[in-house]
Amino acid sequence: MSTKNILQSEISRRCASFRREILLDRNYKKTYPFVVSQGRMPLEIIQAGTLGSRTSLSLSSGNEILLLEERGIKRRRNTMTTSEVYFSDLRSSMKRNLLTKLGELLDSAGLENIVSSRDLVALKLHFGEKGNTAFIRPVFIRHIVDQLHSLGAFPFLTDANTLYAGTRGNSVSHLKTAIENGFAFSVVNAPVIIADGLRGAAYASVPINQEHVEIAYIGREIVEADALISLAHFKGHELSGFGGTIKNVGMGCAARKGKLQQHSDLSPKVKAKKCVGCGECVAHCSHEAISLSDEKKAIINPEKCVGCGECILICPNGAIDIQWSKDIAIFQEKMAEYTFAVLKNKREKSLFINFITQVSPACDCYGHNDAPIVPDIGIVASTDPVAIDQASVDLVNRHDPAQGSCISGRVKTGEDKFRALYPKIDWSIQLDHAEKIGLGTRKYELISLEKKK
Ligand code: SF4
Ligand code: SF4
Repeated sequence: MSTKNILQSEISRRCASFRREILLDRNYKKTYPFVVSQGRMPLEIIQAGTLGSRTSLSLSSGNEILLLEERGIKRRRNTMTTSEVYFSDLRSSMKRNLLTKLGELLDSAGLENIVSSRDLVALKLHFGEKGNTAFIRPVFIRHIVDQLHSLGAFPFLTDANTLYAGTRGNSVSHLKTAIENGFAFSVVNAPVIIADGLRGAAYASVPINQEHVEIAYIGREIVEADALISLAHFKGHELSGFGGTIKNVGMGCAARKGKLQQHSDLSPKVKAKKCVGCGECVAHCSHEAISLSDEKKAIINPEKCVGCGECILICPNGAIDIQWSKDIAIFQEKMAEYTFAVLKNKREKSLFINFITQVSPACDCYGHNDAPIVPDIGIVASTDPVAIDQASVDLVNRHDPAQGSCISGRVKTGEDKFRALYPKIDWSIQLDHAEKIGLGTRKYELISLEKKK
């Protein structure tokens, strides 16, 4: 029996009381994160090794390290709570252009350890609403695709349909918008596969039993993929303060039903003034939750409604809308829990990249983007979805505000740009909750590619 197999069987034996989700990295001798779970708590294997004939396994769980040895489980305080975040600035030269630096960034963050030959790799990104121009440039995506091809993987570009009826509300218009924004096969060298089907109803139910979300509804193709690479355009966001990896993964990978679950605890509402009584929504609601009143206005029965959100898309007059959650804190916490759900089966098979460029004040879901609030900063990559967002928000806040942007004159260098944009929104809630449920840590070491060289 090989050392690897001995180690695998030792870990399986010692962790018999844990859920059988122990995954061994092929670089098992190194200190790599692995994921197992104990009830609700995610555990991360931070060290696995042999000492003579003995095998030990260190598992990180929040502020504790559980050390599994011959004599059972010992507990000690976790002092290994810093994650590495790799940073590339935007300086370039004839010898080393930005695409070369992007490749180096992926190598530094450990792409080769995450993706295996023949893996179906979901590249989760936002293709931009029609009219928006702040999204990640397709030429960067092409470079990542080519790097994945060189590892023998099968990458595809993906996103899930939106809850609202914009230019990405169903797969047909979503694909059309993606192509019009430059994500055609001929440019990116990979197919675009919308994760949640024609109308956003193709989801996988992922049980997570968290504080707010018991079962998450994730775009099926993302759940089925072998690996996930999140490519987030880092920017301001009107509900979460900023939008980075947690937003891209937690909200972006959710199917329509999952998006509605995060945005609201309530059924959609009918705007009576806009409703012309055409009955389209009545015919389309597969739960018979909509009827027409005597005045020919649609009425939603909350007892029957399961919150799939399809009627929002169906109404030709935009008369059905989301009852936006007024509790922003709960919204952000649900988003973190959805990120947990997306990563449930791929914690050691995921990599996160934030492009801190064109940092617009609001989401790319709008058909326009206002001037960036800071000069372009760079690109960061990490295997920790919490650390990368913390590092990104710190990088933005450390910078000077951009002259002529909507915040110039209102905020100084080093001050919180996102609070200046959205004074009532505390963006740290998403990071705190993500850390609490074990997604990662807010403590990070920023490793510049320039220093590494
Ligand atoms: S589809 Fe829209 S306009 Fe037609 S009945 Fe339903 S809510 Fe009213
Ligand atoms: S959200 Fe879904 S279940 Fe509820 S009324 Fe609309 S279509 Fe019907």
